[in-house]
Amino acid sequence: MNENSRYFIPAPGVGSVLGDAELAVLGSLVRSGESLSQGPWRDRFEQALREHIGSRYALTVTSGTVAVRLAVHLLDLAPGDEVIVTPQTFKATADPLLAPEVTVRFCDVEPDTLNVDVASFESLITPRTRALILVHYGGRPARMDEIMRVARRHGVRVVEDCAHALGALYRGRRPGALGDIGCFSFHSSKNITTLGEGGMLTFDDPEWAERIDRIRSNAADGVFVPSPLLAGPYERAEPWMMWAGDSYEKECLHVRHPGGNATLSEAGAAVGLIQLRRLGELTERRRWIAGRLSQTLAEFPHVRLAEVPDDIRHPYHLFTFFVRPGHGTSRDDVVHALEDAGVQVQVRYFPLHLRPEWRGRGHRLGECPVTERLWFHEQVNLPCYPSMTDGQVEHLVLALKAALGGTSSYEEARA
Ligand SMILES: *Cc1c(COP(=O)(O)O)cnc(C)c1O
Repeated sequence: MNENSRYFIPAPGVGSVLGDAELAVLGSLVRSGESLSQGPWRDRFEQALREHIGSRYALTVTSGTVAVRLAVHLLDLAPGDEVIVTPQTFKATADPLLAPEVTVRFCDVEPDTLNVDVASFESLITPRTRALILVHYGGRPARMDEIMRVARRHGVRVVEDCAHALGALYRGRRPGALGDIGCFSFHSSKNITTLGEGGMLTFDDPEWAERIDRIRSNAADGVFVPSPLLAGPYERAEPWMMWAGDSYEKECLHVRHPGGNATLSEAGAAVGLIQLRRLGELTERRRWIAGRLSQTLAEFPHVRLAEVPDDIRHPYHLFTFFVRPGHGTSRDDVVHALEDAGVQVQVRYFPLHLRPEWRGRGHRLGECPVTERLWFHEQVNLPCYPSMTDGQVEHLVLALKAALGGTSSYEEARA
């Protein structure tokens, strides 16, 4: 049995909704007898993704984790390089930086949005800084215009972790086309899914596209030159040349990545294409729920909620608010009251610099004071996902009022 089932409103394990259209396409794929790898569905899905995001390339892979890993690979980091990363995100955003011998600096966040604080980012830049890896927290786009201005001035590349941000708009453009590289996840819990697992990289550089396409389909990413050795003896066309491809024509000077298999299956791509068409409707449902929650929270003076300006569209992958300390009811009181009312609360995410792997590399409490204060004392994330019923939303509204409002119980708030 699902451990969440004791909750009337579980935290979102499932971020999307699948229906008859997805079932129909899967049925036809199963009956087709065609290969279910590297076929027309992936091409169609990637074309639709390029058009949606507005990037020159969109390459699907098997997960968001793989996407971020490959993005870090494209940065070609050398020992001694420095990378700045936000600590307020899922661990997969920063984990690829545990492997190379680089110095990682954790950048603090804005107290209302939990996105990268531009001043903190700029203060951490040194002549060795090569990149910033940020997340659009909960789907709300970070301050990309300011961030890119600072990054360009210092020659710093920007990787956007867009795992939450599908459906978002920033000044008329899409996350994933705002920095240098975008990374997306189509995991079951995200805004749309490619049948449970999947991911994508977006960018504009054709050389990067070639490198990622090789790596994801079991070819090495290396520095290749025409072969001086083999060209001579085989000038005549031989039948085997057809099967050898470029294997005998090239010389590899240096292997950057051995390659692997990160191919998104045809089933995943076909479902993803249908899901992408549903994205508007799924996002509207999230936004409607977020609207009800924001309206409810606005009544309480000891609650802080970020304003959302007109030039961004927040897809509410996560719905977040803050309990001001020193007003009687603490964040922990609110969470306990919500849990007692059957609402599962997960405070996302434990500050990354305090995880054991990063403490083992010398990172310490106090490094990102805003991130720490919010996570330990103020932040609450509420369930907000498209499959929530109207009844669940109204239950959540009442439970919130009871938890925040001094009404002694959920029953009283209901009355
Ligand atoms: C989910 C998530 C990932 C990883 O995606 P997977 O597809 O689960 O591997 C990376 N970054 C963030 C911010 C995420 O939320």
